[in-house]
Amino acid sequence: MYVDGSGPKVGSGFFLGEILTTIPLPADEVKRSRAGCGKCSKCMTACPTNAFVGEHVLDARKCISYLTIENKGSIPHELREPMGNRIYGCDVCQQVCPWNKFEWGDIAGSPLFGQVDLSVSAPKLQDLLLMSEDSFLQTFSSSPIKRIGLARFIRNVAVAAGNSRNKLLVPVVEEALRAWAGKDEMVAEHLEWAKSRLMAASGEEEATKKEGTQGGETKGEEQRRTE
Ligand code: SF4
Ligand code: SF4
Repeated sequence: MYVDGSGPKVGSGFFLGEILTTIPLPADEVKRSRAGCGKCSKCMTACPTNAFVGEHVLDARKCISYLTIENKGSIPHELREPMGNRIYGCDVCQQVCPWNKFEWGDIAGSPLFGQVDLSVSAPKLQDLLLMSEDSFLQTFSSSPIKRIGLARFIRNVAVAAGNSRNKLLVPVVEEALRAWAGKDEMVAEHLEWAKSRLMAASGEEEATKKEGTQGGETKGEEQRRTE
């Protein structure tokens, strides 16, 4: 992907803008070739939700950036697990694009915004789950995250919590559920989903532990038999 006249080497890190004018400008030719991409398909294979449904064709409804930012409703169940721990946007397809290496190089942190504080790039889910309206507005007062509002934000955090397999989050999710039940059905449903995922993960962990212990006893018994 590249901007005409600049060549592919500039990569894809752009802020888009528009100028409204009455000047009669000639329209650019629309190019739909794979110029610049060659045989590469890294973005298509790296996308966590398989949002690319063909070459140069993106089903935006599957894109995590859409799901976590623009989408005002519920996140489809089948897309929740592949979202992993992304709670606001996704840049995977940008990060894997070889053309971006020229501009972004080996920058640690965000290629577009440079070094980002850990409290922003990797916040603690338990703190986010229990955010109040006031703390949300205060924390994100100068961030675009503010625009999605607290309810959509907690919806996204609930999905990340459900995917975390961290059983220590169960009581936190339950506390969040008490705060949101009766207040916002959509948020409550996502928190319920998170709770059931965490309980299932905790059950699996216990079962694996038990199997390990039983396996150990069997080995011990075998050893005693051969002594
Ligand atoms: S931003 Fe993420 S989810 Fe969206 S198309 Fe790119 S890799 Fe896929
Ligand atoms: S990763 Fe970059 S070069 Fe490769 S197909 Fe995607 S846009 Fe083209």
